[in-house]
Parts: sequence; C-alpha cells; structure tokens
Amino acid sequence: MTRYASLLAAALLLLSACSNPEGSTQLFVDRDLCIGCAKCEEVCPYGAIEIIDGDAVIDPALCHLCMRCVEECPKGAIY
Ligand code: SF4
Ligand code: SF4
Repeated sequence: MTRYASLLAAALLLLSACSNPEGSTQLFVDRDLCIGCAKCEEVCPYGAIEIIDGDAVIDPALCHLCMRCVEECPKGAIY
C-alpha cells in the first residue's frame, strides 16, 4: 500500500469512528424546536454547547459526539 493510500485509509477509519448513529459527523440544533432550557449545555462534558439568543449552539470543534445532549434534550431538538 502506498503512503497516500495508508493515510487515506487512516482518515476514513477516523471519520467512521467519529460518526453518530445517523452517520453524520456533526450535530445540529433545530431552532424551531429549541426552547433554550440549557439542559444540553449543562450535560455536555466538553463545553461544546452555549445558549446564544435563546437557542443552543454546538461548537463542532469541541463536540465529541457523545450524544448526551441528544438524550437530555426534552424537545428532541438536537440531531
Ligand atoms: S454530543 Fe456530547 S460533546 Fe457533543 S455537544 Fe452533545 S453533549 Fe457535547
Ligand atoms: S436541551 Fe434542547 S431545548 Fe434545551 S436548550 Fe438544549 S437543544 Fe434547546
């Protein structure tokens, strides 16, 4: 295997390991559903969520896709 192929394989492996069950590598907040209760912010162990102007905002650079916020959200606003 060439060095390029090895790097590509490693990158794909890393990407698949970081995916949530839906296959996405990033979480989003449905602003129509979010009520700004901040439960997701409180439960996030990585400080990746902030309530801005009444809506949860997820920083994908800090998010580890642990899915705790998804489980905690009472409105099902995080996907
Ligand atoms: S998935 Fe985990 S790390 Fe990412 S924002 Fe939600 S609680 Fe935080
Ligand atoms: S837990 Fe859900 S409803 Fe509450 S702030 Fe977070 S995304 Fe919005």
